[in-house]
Amino acid sequence: MGEEERRRMAVCTACGSAYAARVASDGTVQPIGSKDGCRCGSSEFEVVEGSTDVGRREEEFD
Ligand SMILES: [Zn+2]
Repeated sequence: MGEEERRRMAVCTACGSAYAARVASDGTVQPIGSKDGCRCGSSEFEVVEGSTDVGRREEEFD
């Protein structure tokens, strides 16, 4: 765990909310601190291309 993951910004495809997310080597996008998906109920996210590594931002969520 860890080395295969990258952290990126991702946005919910349903409502556009932005999250710091982990991107697994298989392309799975997992919002940090929101493992059940977006607060709107969607679990579809799109990585913001070109976003920088956002590092540890867990504290800012919830
Ligand atoms: Zn949403």
